[in-house]
Amino acid sequence: MTLLELDDVTASYGPVRVLEGISLSVPEGGAVGILGANGAGKTTTLRAISGMVRTGGSITFDGRSIAGLSPERVAALGIAHVPEGRGTLGGLTVRENLRVGAYLRKDSKSVPGDIDYCLDLFPQLRNRIRSAAAALSGGEQQMLAIARAFMAKPRLLLLDEASLGLAPGTAKTVYEAIGRLRKESGIAMLVVEQNANLAFTLVESATVLETGRNVLTGSTAELKGMDEIRRAYLGG
Ligand code: ATP
Repeated sequence: MTLLELDDVTASYGPVRVLEGISLSVPEGGAVGILGANGAGKTTTLRAISGMVRTGGSITFDGRSIAGLSPERVAALGIAHVPEGRGTLGGLTVRENLRVGAYLRKDSKSVPGDIDYCLDLFPQLRNRIRSAAAALSGGEQQMLAIARAFMAKPRLLLLDEASLGLAPGTAKTVYEAIGRLRKESGIAMLVVEQNANLAFTLVESATVLETGRNVLTGSTAELKGMDEIRRAYLGG
């Protein structure tokens, strides 16, 4: 069953059109990657889904159109966005950030258990539970941003460059935790990632963007087998 479907989506910043017609779909519980060079439109595709830019074309989530909805409405429908640059609340502690993530939930009784789950998923955060988010390392802030998005109990997670600026070992740890989260929660994921090697550890399929268009879409196995993907994204 398809959870998210984009059909010929366009998007502009003021008069400048940056998405020229993006199509992709994410199945319920599936994980799909978006690859592409700097400026290809990956971040803008996630912003289009979240209602942060003006769009044309069709965006449906769970069978209903979400194009033109505000970011708050989109979030309330069950889409959590972890933006590039992380988006934690720097002045709040780790625990407060996790609580804020859950503020739209009605099942407040399950919140402490879910915070505990996050601290199990990212043990480094347990030691920093009373620290201000601004005082965390880059890797810890990324972990907190993902955990905070999970606290909203979304059906779909939009992840933008979770490995950006992290040491390779930390990036690997973050992706392993995302993989575990996916397996244990069944949350569907749409993952923007410049590091295709990491993305391919998580996703079953991916689409490659160039100047605001899809140029290739396929299963992870198909894409890994293509010379142009190996040259451009896999370092060989
Ligand atoms: P990156 O990896 O560099 O973030 P990307 O594939 O995510 O690249 P986008 O950030 O979606 O690409 O940018 C697509 C195009 O839109 C680029 O040409 C970029 O310069 C332009 N752009 C992005 N944000 C804005 C903005 N707020 N106003 C105007 N143009 C923008």
